[in-house]
Amino acid sequence: MPNPVSEGAAPDEPPCRTGFAVAPLIAFRAAPDYLESLTRREGKKTMNWITNYVRPKINSLFSRREVPENLWTKCGECGTMLFHRELADNLNVCTNCDHHMAITPRERFAALFDGGVFTEVKVSEPIADPLHFRDQKKYPDRMKAAQKATGEKDAMLVAEGEIARTPIIAAAQDFTFMGGSMGMFVGNAIIAAAERAVKRKLPLVLFAAAGGARMQEGILSLMQMPRTTVAVQMLKEAGLPYIVVLTHPTTGGVTASYAMLGDVQIAEPNALICFAGPRVIEQTIREKLPEGFQRAEYLLDHGMLDRVTHRKKMREELVTIIRMLTRQSPAVRGELSAPRPETGKAEMAEAK
Ligand SMILES: [Zn+2]
Repeated sequence: MPNPVSEGAAPDEPPCRTGFAVAPLIAFRAAPDYLESLTRREGKKTMNWITNYVRPKINSLFSRREVPENLWTKCGECGTMLFHRELADNLNVCTNCDHHMAITPRERFAALFDGGVFTEVKVSEPIADPLHFRDQKKYPDRMKAAQKATGEKDAMLVAEGEIARTPIIAAAQDFTFMGGSMGMFVGNAIIAAAERAVKRKLPLVLFAAAGGARMQEGILSLMQMPRTTVAVQMLKEAGLPYIVVLTHPTTGGVTASYAMLGDVQIAEPNALICFAGPRVIEQTIREKLPEGFQRAEYLLDHGMLDRVTHRKKMREELVTIIRMLTRQSPAVRGELSAPRPETGKAEMAEAK
């Protein structure tokens, strides 16, 4: 006789040990089918009040929950519900407490470059899943899920464009893509960015955001630390500025390589920047850590950073620093109109 408990469950789910926990679920799942069977027994295809009134009501009870999630985002710091469009207009900075939330590289570049126009720099793709790594999920499956969720190839985007008519190369790490973890692709991206900067004699601005190395790539991800360090050295030898913007959070192996090698180190307010996190340190030394430990302002006070800059003022700050370092006259202030599409194409062709 088939087990009534496992009958309702999906085929690959393990059978539940206690019938009680699953019983209400079955009742809910079965309800619409039961209603349908009632109508069928009557010999009619539709029975107006049940199918037209009761069923839509039941469905609306369970689907209503999804709507606010699409429209509202909860601030992780103060808990305020923020309307998503308003939040996007504010560059993903909480309008209530100024908490700087994660922003995708594409959104950041759109806000950074003149008229939101930039050219993507091609990054060579590494071998997929060299270790055939598997935890709860296979690594390729995890990658596919992250690619689908973000629409990006991996956790870093490299672009070329102008900020206040100052040409630069920019690379941004995507924390929403597997925690911005540094794998072979990120290593390749930084090398591509550095090579492009050297070729075009342009400064490189890097926005870091990472949970550390990508454990699914094992030692190959750790090898990106020396690789990216060499890439940064290439810039220094060419006499080109390398500016790092540290965003919340930048942790792990990234802070032991390219994220800490900038000529100028800028951070966004209250960003967590560390190699080992505060919880790990607290457990190791068994002492309470000071207020704001490893946060941007604390690191600025202790000489680890040069600047802490609000996301909305970042563009202006970068332009000022870059023009100073490259001995250019101060940038023209104020909003500049977007370059015409024809000029954009011509510039792209020139770049090739
Ligand atoms: Zn907030």
